Amino acid sequence: MSARVLVVDDVEANVRLLEAKLTIEYFDVLTCNDGASAIELAGAEQPDIILLDVMMPGMDGFETCRRLKADATTRHIPVVLVTALDGREDRIRGLDAGADDFITKPLDDVILFARVRSLIRLKQVTDELREREASGQRLGVDASGGGRLRASGARILVVDDNPRQLEKIAVELAKEHRPLIEADAEKGLAAASGPIDLMIVNTMAQGFDGLRLIAQARSNASTRKLPILAIVDQGDRPRLVKALELGANDVLSKPVDAEELAARVRTQIRRKRYADVLKERLDYSLEMAVTDALTGLHNRRYMVGQLDALMNRAKQGGEPVSVLVLDIDHFKAVNDGFGHDAGDEVLREFSVRLATNVRAIDLPCRMGGEEFVVVMPGAELDAAHRIADRIRRDVGSTPFPVMDGAEHLNITISIGVATSHGGDDTPAALLKRADEGVYEAKAGGRNQVVARAA
Ligand code: GH3
Ligand code: MG
Ligand code: MG
Repeated sequence: MSARVLVVDDVEANVRLLEAKLTIEYFDVLTCNDGASAIELAGAEQPDIILLDVMMPGMDGFETCRRLKADATTRHIPVVLVTALDGREDRIRGLDAGADDFITKPLDDVILFARVRSLIRLKQVTDELREREASGQRLGVDASGGGRLRASGARILVVDDNPRQLEKIAVELAKEHRPLIEADAEKGLAAASGPIDLMIVNTMAQGFDGLRLIAQARSNASTRKLPILAIVDQGDRPRLVKALELGANDVLSKPVDAEELAARVRTQIRRKRYADVLKERLDYSLEMAVTDALTGLHNRRYMVGQLDALMNRAKQGGEPVSVLVLDIDHFKAVNDGFGHDAGDEVLREFSVRLATNVRAIDLPCRMGGEEFVVVMPGAELDAAHRIADRIRRDVGSTPFPVMDGAEHLNITISIGVATSHGGDDTPAALLKRADEGVYEAKAGGRNQVVARAA
């Protein structure tokens, strides 16, 4: 795993030591000696992780961390606080400042690398989402929304068979969240694929193998991305490292400290919700990329892609493909006479009639304005012609209600039909033939269907 690490420490010797250790492990290392430089470097260089000393003159590590997490351009970079103090207070203060983890000096190499790798793995997931979201925005899709991320009210599954520890954890979690308890690994794994935000696994359980449970959760598609907090005996380094290697996102040492539990849970939940928001926006932007916003039909982009694929199949001896091009007659008169909103109502109602009159495998799309296309896989010209005429009659026979039913408008459409059997035919040529059909239908008096043989 090649990643960029920013090391921040006011003592140059500490910087050099960490830099040497990380370089040997093939990390790319950036360094600086104070909080202000750290904030500037983090913004400009976008490292994958920041190792931040707590005790620094001027702006200390807590404040530096708080500012990094308050800035949208650096918020997503994991921060590990490096502290000489093994005090609980500092760890909790650090996690509350938004730190993703802490390690204590003198540094234990195994723990250092395990935690760094685990945080970088997690960051890769959110980076991927951020990138895909950014490309969604480049498509011209507005996917704003969201808001501040809450770190409370989460559904937390605790898999543990130690009654006393469970009691303590459940009481603490219930102050802010909704805990769900399972004493059995199999039931725990089943529950984990439900609506759960975080799973806490006791790797020291008597009745089941907690490490195995973590591995299983990571190999199941439905739980692969579920944050996992592993409980490990204090000082049991091999188990701690194993838990992180298997994919636990963080580790709590036993005996479990209530406040540390609360702080670590909050960090995991915040991260999970961040990923969820990105995912939601991504789903939305993906949908907007293929859907017409006004009518909910497929859009031109989607239609072009589908038609390309179907024509390629036709070329390779597959089924024929037919297209209908549909254009509302004298639509401008609707806008002029009843307003643009009434025009939109007509477009929506037309989309409903279009969608209900085509076959399930057909793809009704809005090309833009008052022009629509239906792609019909496997349809010969006469079948497509029949369906086109059914749509035409349905539109023309029942007036369109507009302005909350205050008016009913008589609407008609002109339709061109064309079919491709592959060969040298192209999507553009096919659509052009159907377009010529529309033109002919308009010239012939509108409210009619004209089919164009190849
Ligand atoms: P023809 O029978 O020859 O097709 O005449 P037409 O008036 O339907 O055709 P024309 O292309 O001249 O006018 C189409 C109109 O559709 C012009 C434009 O203002 C309107 N239009 C395009 N997109 C929208 C839309 O999203 N909503 C509304 N309400 N009107 C739209
Ligand atoms: Mg028109
Ligand atoms: Mg037009």
